[in-house]
Amino acid sequence: MKQEWTITTHSPEETAHIAEKLGKLLEKEDIITLEGDLGAGKTTFTKALAAALGVTRTVNSPTFTLMKEYEGRVPFYHMDAYRIEDEFEDLGLEEYFEGEGVTVVEWPSMIAEQLPEQRMNIKIKFCGGNVREFRFTACGERYISLGKELFNA
Ligand code: ADP
Ligand code: MG
Repeated sequence: MKQEWTITTHSPEETAHIAEKLGKLLEKEDIITLEGDLGAGKTTFTKALAAALGVTRTVNSPTFTLMKEYEGRVPFYHMDAYRIEDEFEDLGLEEYFEGEGVTVVEWPSMIAEQLPEQRMNIKIKFCGGNVREFRFTACGERYISLGKELFNA
């Protein structure tokens, strides 16, 4: 079961606004994946989402570690799989996916085999200037209702 929504933003603030709205709706065990080229807005989106989860520390990309954990209303697990070399190595990620917090995975294709099927995928497309297209794909019931709530549809 899948459902998709597309939204276009015209500024970093607009991107932050949608991420904040999503962050407020997230609960323990929710998984969001973020795909998009460098400069697409993954970090902009993640920072605003984390703030909405009550994270007060600065969220930076976990460049040299796969995962960084932050304290918030629920724990926030920020994964960046960009540097994973062996996609089949067992990284023990279930501990996070099935844990007490919300997970955001950047570069999910690098760990595709280890991702739960039920999740919200977000693909960001650079459309020139400050325009970005966000395509949300909800996989599974939880994420379909999350998307419906987010987009009032
Ligand atoms: P990534 O983490 O995907 O490499 P960043 O969030 O670090 O991307 O960078 C996005 C850059 O694009 C920032 O400099 C931001 O100010 C700019 N930008 C311009 N328009 C937008 C928009 N609509 N949404 C997000 N970022 C935007
Ligand atoms: Mg980034």
